Amino acid sequence: MKVLITGGAGYIGSHTAVELIEAGCRIVIADNFSNSSLVAVKRIRSITETEVPCYFADLRREETVTRIFRNERPDAVIHFAGLKAVGESNEHPVAYYDHNLGSMIQILKAMRTYNCRNLVYSSSATVYGGEAEMPVMEDAALQTTNPYGRTKKMIEEMLMDTSGAYPEMCITALRYFNPIGAHRSGLIGEDPLGIPNNIAPFITQVAAGRRGYLQIFGNDYETADGTGIRDYVHVTDLAKGHIAAINKGAGRNGYHVYNLGTGYGTSVLELVHMFRLVSGKRIPYVITPRRPGDAAVSFADTSKAERELGWKAELSLEDMCRDSWNWQQKNPAGYRSEMIMEVETL
Ligand code: NAD
Ligand code: UDP
Repeated sequence: MKVLITGGAGYIGSHTAVELIEAGCRIVIADNFSNSSLVAVKRIRSITETEVPCYFADLRREETVTRIFRNERPDAVIHFAGLKAVGESNEHPVAYYDHNLGSMIQILKAMRTYNCRNLVYSSSATVYGGEAEMPVMEDAALQTTNPYGRTKKMIEEMLMDTSGAYPEMCITALRYFNPIGAHRSGLIGEDPLGIPNNIAPFITQVAAGRRGYLQIFGNDYETADGTGIRDYVHVTDLAKGHIAAINKGAGRNGYHVYNLGTGYGTSVLELVHMFRLVSGKRIPYVITPRRPGDAAVSFADTSKAERELGWKAELSLEDMCRDSWNWQQKNPAGYRSEMIMEVETL
């Protein structure tokens, strides 16, 4: 099977690329590198010892997407490309609708033209909003609180309509909980530009001394230690969930939605504690007020993915923290570390 991975140079896309190649698939990456680095593609090549075709492509552009499909004729698409920062989406909603909806529409049009019938889409637990009962199941009511979340929900609706009109297609939306960790080699990982929005890269940068302290957003939630609870899932487990979905999609039709998480909730303080254990470093923190829009508790009911896809997360919180820390230590400035080293050796 030949799989087009949009956003394949990004955090989750790069890990999925590695797992797909190791599972025997041929892959093609398309990315505009607005939030990623060519070094990631180079590292995918070195982990897998495989040539990986890669297009520098803005997927909002119809002629670009058409050219990729005409050249590559993929059997399946995993669509990761898009913008993903909640705060930024409040400031620049039009950019979020443009990139997220725009690229999805072009991919769907090209899939129709080139008779490509198997699509896996990156959705998010954010579509459940903050009020759902936990653990949350896929049939819970959707409720979004920011433009980013609304693009995810709108795209799911677009995909449902598309599947209704073209029953020969198989479209699978995967709702990710909180992916953290990195490939066990430490060669690929999460490389946020600027100040990290998400907790795991922030903690590893504090542990490494790049930032002074972590701000814990609220310790007055109704949870055992008062801090927010999330379902952290190792990015390699998440990547394997895509393989399960794409394989399943090759043999069936319709629209399907799955939660991808571990099914367990971890508090911010528990996460900090685990990072401290695996790194042996101090992680200073201060408690600040809650971050507006944050849910108190979010964790998945993963029984549907287990039952229908045969997928279950296997790696522990310790594995996640250890692999994040390994990536941070080997790449103190993310992928820029490699560029800095190359410049220094000139
Ligand atoms: P990422 O930013 O690392 O990867 C996204 C990639 O898409 C980047 O490489 C970026 O350069 C590329 N891109 C953006 N706009 C593009 C465009 N118009 N054309 C071509 N490429 C474009 O993000 P990620 O964490 O790997 O997330 C991948 C997907 O998963 C996103 O759709 C995101 O919304 C979704 N998701 C992520 C998380 C998370 O916590 N990381 C959680 C839930 C859902
Ligand atoms: N969080 C925090 N400090 C940070 C970033 C996040 O305390 O610098 C908390 C946040 O309130 C939430 C959890 O960590 O309870 C996970 O936040 P993240 O932004 O990583 O994911 P999301 O909010 O999208 O689930």
